[in-house]
Amino acid sequence: MNFDNDDAVSRRIQAFTDRIGGMKKNDQYFYNQPIEEIHGGAKVLVGGREMGMYASYGYLGLIGHPRINEAAKKAVDKFGTGTNGVRMLAGTLTLHNELEETIAHFKHTEAAVTYSSGYVTNLTVVSTLMGRGDYVLSDKLNHASIVDGCLMSGAEFRRFKHNDMDDLAKRLGQIPDGVSKLVIADAVFSMDGDVIDLPKMVKVCKKYGAYLMMDEAHSIGVLGKTGRGIEEHFGLEDVVDIKMGTLSKTIPSVGGYVAGSKELINYFRHASRAYIFSAAIPPAQTAAANEAFKVILDEPWRVDKLRKNGEQFISGLKSYGFDTGLTTTAIVPVMCGSDENAFVMTREAQHHDVFVLPVVSPAVPEGQARLRATVTAAHEPDEIQRAMDVIARAGKQIGIIK
Ligand SMILES: *Cc1c(COP(=O)(O)O)cnc(C)c1O
Repeated sequence: MNFDNDDAVSRRIQAFTDRIGGMKKNDQYFYNQPIEEIHGGAKVLVGGREMGMYASYGYLGLIGHPRINEAAKKAVDKFGTGTNGVRMLAGTLTLHNELEETIAHFKHTEAAVTYSSGYVTNLTVVSTLMGRGDYVLSDKLNHASIVDGCLMSGAEFRRFKHNDMDDLAKRLGQIPDGVSKLVIADAVFSMDGDVIDLPKMVKVCKKYGAYLMMDEAHSIGVLGKTGRGIEEHFGLEDVVDIKMGTLSKTIPSVGGYVAGSKELINYFRHASRAYIFSAAIPPAQTAAANEAFKVILDEPWRVDKLRKNGEQFISGLKSYGFDTGLTTTAIVPVMCGSDENAFVMTREAQHHDVFVLPVVSPAVPEGQARLRATVTAAHEPDEIQRAMDVIARAGKQIGIIK
């Protein structure tokens, strides 16, 4: 089959073929570039050139950490490279239980359970908890995996205005009494870098008897004095019922987790389909994740340095005249306006060895295309300054800043 028919499927595929082809023709396509080597710190080899990495989710610079690499190698020697299937049957290793205890300790909860990706964690957690007749309320800017989980659950799906707790309260007030309600939000928003107003959200959820779930993909290792995340950031203790996060960003592995009460986690171990029907995280990745949580606690300077690097990056870009939106974290949108502007900015940055990537519509609204730049604890202040100079030169060239 060549997918060149005159039907909806073929037209869908053709539309992408055309868009991608057009971008490549104009030297505006920078997605899917393979990284050839990791050069320690925050440098990578791409297309034979060494570039500063400004598109990483590895916020604490833990990729390649000797302790974490060593833990992964030991796990391979002991357990091999795969598991014997799904967690519920023969797939569970002592390593999985150790990792889950470490996460529960890190998040100050009774228990935790892991899945093979963060995406799958959101799908399975939301759809296992919620069903027909229930209500899920999701922030407008929540991650796609949350949206997909809500849709998959079959529950009534409502979206509230971004980080607007009055709108959330209004919508909760419209729901009939006596039904289950779940409120979900990213702790740090993945495209904008702003932080959810958790204190107010907790009050609203309490008032309306709604359960609260937080996705901490971009807040673990980032927020809070010891990097424990959103609750530590606001000085709140155990106000989130369902604490979700990934093992693929700050934690240099792969997988996702949810932490909470013993009953909740035990329920997931027996009722969530991703636990029952999908294979366990492999030994090396499980051991790596476990060690990474320990490194975060043993090396608190990383959390500190990340915060300082983020402040330098945001204030520096602002002083050049860039609009960086509402970010207060390591995710820094550099607003470019049109998609075209964002592509040209990317090309100029990469031609000067700054590895940064654009986010364009439909991932963000039309006219809000941006470089989605990140800093990590692995950057040094002079490197960040150089990257900002490169971005500023490009910004001036196409008239985004003066
Ligand atoms: C990346 C991300 C996920 C998915 O995590 P993976 O481990 O990459 O599957 C979920 N939620 C948010 C907010 C994310 O940014």
